[in-house]
Amino acid sequence: MLFHDTIVALATPAGVGAIGVIRLSGPDSIPLVNAVFKPKDLTKKASHTIHYGRIEDAGRVYDEVVVSLYIAPKSYTKEDVVEISCHGSPFIQESIIQLFVEKGARLARAGEFTQRAFMHGAFDLAQAEAVADVIAADSAAAQAAALHQLRGGFSNELAALREQLIHFASLIELELDFGEEDVEFADRKDLEDLVNQLLVAIRPLVDSFRAGNAIKNGVATVIVGKPNAGKSTLLNALLNEERAIVSDIAGTTRDSLEDSWVLGGIKFRLIDTAGLRETEDVIEAMGVERTQAWVKKAQVVIYMADATTETPASIQAGVDALGDLAIPVIQILNKKDQVSSESLDAFKQEIPSLICLSAKNKDGLADLEKALLDVVGLDQVSAGGTLVTNLRHYQHLLQTQETLESVLRGLRTGLTGDLIAQDLRYALHDLGEITGQISNDDLLKNIFGKFCIGK
Ligand code: GDP
Repeated sequence: MLFHDTIVALATPAGVGAIGVIRLSGPDSIPLVNAVFKPKDLTKKASHTIHYGRIEDAGRVYDEVVVSLYIAPKSYTKEDVVEISCHGSPFIQESIIQLFVEKGARLARAGEFTQRAFMHGAFDLAQAEAVADVIAADSAAAQAAALHQLRGGFSNELAALREQLIHFASLIELELDFGEEDVEFADRKDLEDLVNQLLVAIRPLVDSFRAGNAIKNGVATVIVGKPNAGKSTLLNALLNEERAIVSDIAGTTRDSLEDSWVLGGIKFRLIDTAGLRETEDVIEAMGVERTQAWVKKAQVVIYMADATTETPASIQAGVDALGDLAIPVIQILNKKDQVSSESLDAFKQEIPSLICLSAKNKDGLADLEKALLDVVGLDQVSAGGTLVTNLRHYQHLLQTQETLESVLRGLRTGLTGDLIAQDLRYALHDLGEITGQISNDDLLKNIFGKFCIGK
């Protein structure tokens, strides 16, 4: 038994609801509930059974409830767990929780149930983090990615490879113990094969982060272009088209407006450069620096040009003014209804990737939508591949990748065992931090502190 105390919390959202669920976990959870539960004796009941009765103490009836029993280790936390479904009145819920605190339970900290599950080996750290992501998922793709991770995702594969790496690391450490003697316990060729194998597993994970992050947090998409190009018309067309405005968030800066829009199960956060619309020339008014700052927050830029006023050269100049961007720029030509097809052909000739559309007539939007899905790497999502959505995992994976590449270089150039051993230790550390084989209190506090209370 790792924990000697019993924790209690409301597992459903605070506030009025049809029912509220209070959860207890720990060695005393069944006797604690039993002492105030009438008329049955819960200590004699089997795991995974539910019981109707009253919560009653010192002559006061708190509520009529349904109690679910989960006896260790067959529970979420692997401890004895009792869940009490009571009426969804905040007063009742608080009174019952208070009653258990008086009887000896402790109020649970955020994520403490999940932390106990992790500590008891119900799942690894990456899976525990996925629990929070499943709860927070706000689009189909985010939910699918989180659920995949919850079910093991890349954890199992990495854990197996890490075990093999530990084997090699210990052989090399052993060589070091022999100091002067020229011995090699660790077969360098086998080690190189293993490192390559690990890199094959890790590289796609590192590469998947862009898509994974986009799916989890939404793809920040900035629409830029000269005034009257049709940016707000496009924004409205896209949002109305889907009729799925998730939220209207007035931007943190006065001159930005952000709308969330779900396309193909992926959330896009469309940012309109609204307040700048009145100025003469958006790009010029913002200045290169300002534009870059704006665009820096984005993962995709939609550059919109007006077919009636621009030329291929002016579009090129406008895109160049955005600076050297490491993110995709989707170039679109609006108001195609106003110009001849020869004229459009001339534009396409110069800029083959240009998407011609009419925001006003909602004509050609599908091409833009396809381009947006392409830039987030939708193929990986639909192929059901593992996606890294968590920044912490990404950073450790990237670090592992760089370290392993350094090991490979070292092996090829005949680097000494002690330097290779050092790199292996770093790689093992990073891999171990992802799954929680290596963890510390601060890290756990940080991760589980982001959970809701009661989870
Ligand atoms: P913004 O300043 O870039 O946000 O541009 P607006 O969305 O306000 O549009 C400027 C003007 O262009 C408005 O009068 C729109 O109705 C018009 N407009 C936008 N898209 C199209 C289009 O596809 N075809 C035509 N003919 N007019 C358009």
